[in-house]
Amino acid sequence: MNMEDCIYKTTCRVCEGSDLVEVLNLGSTPPANAYLSREDLDKPEKSFPLVLYFCKTCSLAQLRHVVNPEILFKGYHFLTSASTPSVLHFKEYAEKAIIPLITSPKDLVIDIGGNDGVLLNYIKDKARVLNVDPADNLASISEEKGVPFYPAFFTSQTADELLEKFGKAKVVTANNVFAHTDPIRDVFKGVAKLIGEDGTFIFEVHWAKHLVDESAFDQIYHEHLCFYSLHALKVLVEATGMQIFDVEIVQAQGQSLRVYAAKSRAPSSNVERILAEEKVAGLTDEATYHAFAQHVEENKKKVVALLKELKSKGKKIVGYGAPAKSNTLLNYYGVGKETLEYLTDTTTLKQGLYSPGTHIPIVSPEKLLTDTPDYILLLAWNFKDAILEKEQALRERGIKFIIPVGNVTIV
Ligand SMILES: [Zn+2]
Repeated sequence: MNMEDCIYKTTCRVCEGSDLVEVLNLGSTPPANAYLSREDLDKPEKSFPLVLYFCKTCSLAQLRHVVNPEILFKGYHFLTSASTPSVLHFKEYAEKAIIPLITSPKDLVIDIGGNDGVLLNYIKDKARVLNVDPADNLASISEEKGVPFYPAFFTSQTADELLEKFGKAKVVTANNVFAHTDPIRDVFKGVAKLIGEDGTFIFEVHWAKHLVDESAFDQIYHEHLCFYSLHALKVLVEATGMQIFDVEIVQAQGQSLRVYAAKSRAPSSNVERILAEEKVAGLTDEATYHAFAQHVEENKKKVVALLKELKSKGKKIVGYGAPAKSNTLLNYYGVGKETLEYLTDTTTLKQGLYSPGTHIPIVSPEKLLTDTPDYILLLAWNFKDAILEKEQALRERGIKFIIPVGNVTIV
C-alpha cells in the first residue's frame, strides 16, 4: 500500500475524540468503483483496508483508512439521472423541501455534490442555482440541463470563494455526499458561512439504523467513510453554530435521514422522536455494532457454502447488478469469476468492463433474454421486491434468485 494513496485517521471525524473501537474487518479490497477494462486485467490493482469503527463518544460509525479521493472519484461511472427512482425522489425533494423556501428569483440554491444536476434541474426556473461537484466529467451533462457547474471538492475555503463570487445562499443542499467526506467538520463550517443567519441547510445521509437493521454491510466501501446516526449529526451541526430544526426519514438509498439545519429555528418534535428511536434501536451502543458484525460474518459463511454446493452440482450462476456495493460483497465473500459467469447491469458505461478485485465481466441485462442460468445472485438486493416483480419472466423460466444479505434466501 502506497501511503500517499491512503491515510489512517487517528480521531473521530465528528467529535474529534479518540475512543474508537473496531467492529467489522472486511479485509483489503480495491476501491468499489475501480471497474477494469480488459487491458487492466493483467495489471496490479490497488487495494486498501476496509474496516469499520465505532466512536464511543458521539456514536459515528466510520472508516479510518482514507483513500485519496483522486483515486476514488476519477471517472465516476454513476449518473443519478440514470436511475428512475432517484429522479422521482429528487423531484419530490425539490417540490416539498426547497421550493417553499424560495422567495425571490434572485435567491441562490447551491447543491454540494450535485452530480449531473438532477435536483437543481427542478429549481432552476425558480432561483439562481449552482452545482458544486468534483467530478468534472459531469460538468457538461449538468450544464446541458441549464444547471451551472462549479468543479470543486467543497471545503470551507470553497465556501469563501463562493461567497465572494455569488453571495450568500438561501438554501444549501447536499445529498448522499457526507458519507464520502473526510474533513466533515470543515465542510459544515463552510456551509454555516454560506447560509448566513437566514439560510437553510438541508442534507440527506444514509442512516446507520438501516446499516444495522438490514445487516447492509455492502454499503461499506472506501467512498463511504461515515454512517451517521442523528445523535452524531447533532454533535456535528452544533459544533459549527447551527442547529437541527427538523428531520424526516426518507426511502432513498435504503433508508436515509433528511435533516434541516439553520442558525436559529425552533426544533420540531421530530428531532426528539428520532433521537428516542435511535436509543431504542441501540445506535448509541457499541454492543449493537458487534452484533451487526457477527450477523454479517454468519451470512458470509451461509452464502459461500451455498454457492460452493451449487457449483459442485454443476449449476450455472450469474450476478444481477454491478453497483459499487456489490464489489464489497464479492470481495469480502471471495466470490469471483470462477463462481459467477457474468454480472448484468443497466449502466451502459459499466458494460464491457470487469468487477474490481473479482474480475467478473459486466454485460447488458439483455443477455438474460437468451441465456438461462440456474441461479442469479441478487447483488442489488436492496431493490429485491421491485426486481423480483420486474423479472417475473425469468422466474417463470425456472431461474432462481439468491438473496445474499439480511436473511439469506432462495426465491
Ligand atoms: Zn466521535
